[in-house]
Amino acid sequence: MIRFCDEVSCPAAACDPVVCTGKGVADNEIMFQRSLAAIPGGVNSSIRAFKSVGGTPYFVARAKGASIWDVEGREYLDLVQSYGAIILGHAHPRVVEAICSAAGDGTSYGAPTPREMKLAEVIRERVPSCELVRLMNSGTEATMTAVRLARGATGRDRIVKFAGNYHGATDALLAAGGSGIATLGIAGTAGVPKGAVADTMVVPFNIVPQLDELVAAVIVEPVAANAGLIPPDAEFLQGLRAECDRVGALLIFDEVITGFRLGAGGAQGHFAITPDISCFGKVIGGGLPIGAIGGRREVMECLSPLGPVFHAGTLSGNPLATVAGLASLDLLTDDVYEELCARAERLGAGLRGAFAAAGAQIDVPVMATLVGVHLAPGAAHNFEDAKETDEGLYGRFFHAMLSEGVALAPGAYEVLFPGLAHTEAIIDEIVERAYRSAVVAVGGRT
Ligand SMILES: *Cc1c(COP(=O)(O)O)cnc(C)c1O
Repeated sequence: MIRFCDEVSCPAAACDPVVCTGKGVADNEIMFQRSLAAIPGGVNSSIRAFKSVGGTPYFVARAKGASIWDVEGREYLDLVQSYGAIILGHAHPRVVEAICSAAGDGTSYGAPTPREMKLAEVIRERVPSCELVRLMNSGTEATMTAVRLARGATGRDRIVKFAGNYHGATDALLAAGGSGIATLGIAGTAGVPKGAVADTMVVPFNIVPQLDELVAAVIVEPVAANAGLIPPDAEFLQGLRAECDRVGALLIFDEVITGFRLGAGGAQGHFAITPDISCFGKVIGGGLPIGAIGGRREVMECLSPLGPVFHAGTLSGNPLATVAGLASLDLLTDDVYEELCARAERLGAGLRGAFAAAGAQIDVPVMATLVGVHLAPGAAHNFEDAKETDEGLYGRFFHAMLSEGVALAPGAYEVLFPGLAHTEAIIDEIVERAYRSAVVAVGGRT
């Protein structure tokens, strides 16, 4: 058990070693102050900071199903779900059991294992474009490797990405990203030399760009889920496929969110488009660190040791991450996805109703199992539209929901992740709280 209490004899009357701060109280503020002293900004991923919504982050002590509990013992119905890494709900018994039993066999070896083989097989089975699969440790590593692979396979340098699409924290793709970067309001980031993005072209989402033969690859979130939720227009993905083929560029689908989330076949299955390379993360690790790329055999064979494009990782194909991923994917049948879609619809309709009742016209896009909250009257088709969302209103809604015991992501550009643990009754409870929260938020009170 993790011990936070570092007092030899704790002054707390009933010291809970998991959450005690050593000062006799379990307190988010004290935890945050201690973290600030040890960790830049007190967080290990910038988007977890409450910078854009204000206030002190809740420190999570534990989670189960749709709920998380902070160190003060407050329960929140959680729609963050580790930004989509969790789809079965927190601490699902099958996942916990799989991790515990695997841990006893050792946690990393530096040699191949049957579980990596199995996870690669499961991904291949469900996503036919992935003739070969390589596992790694994060979504960031997946997009970074996909870009290197595309450049190595084509002998070209240029990459085209879409404004507001987020592909992780890899230098070449940190131009006009969504999510944290959109929230923080900085174009790109310091520390990325001009050279690193010199071959990255950023174009508007939902318009097929005209390419030329300098382009190695187009990378796209097939459903944009880091600038609010922006579904692709009818002909967009098909048009991208055709334009890539016309100039011999590769099409990379970043399915780190959409993979095994929109449905068993991800966005490519949903829209029936075949990319050359796909990037995965989040769901395939069942809440443990993982990433993967998959693609056409002849492209994937450019990776070392078969080909000239280097890729390696000490913890790649990690025994715990693969076993957690396998346990998760095992439960994700077509029936489950259908059920998740119904819950997403129910949540979307509820949130729409909540804001309408509070007198605000907003847009709540729902795409299969994903729900967005666009606090502006019209639907967003691109990043410019997405930025019309009322960030002040989001901040007030976020805090009102938090007071009601519902956790949303602390940023106006994140999507909601209803999962298997969000039963109809829980969705209805969230919606009821959203009705009260919307009144508070629209009324301008906090
Ligand atoms: C989360 C995300 C990434 C980055 O994955 P990490 O595991 O956080 O590195 C990449 N692309 C998309 C679309 C994502 O949502």
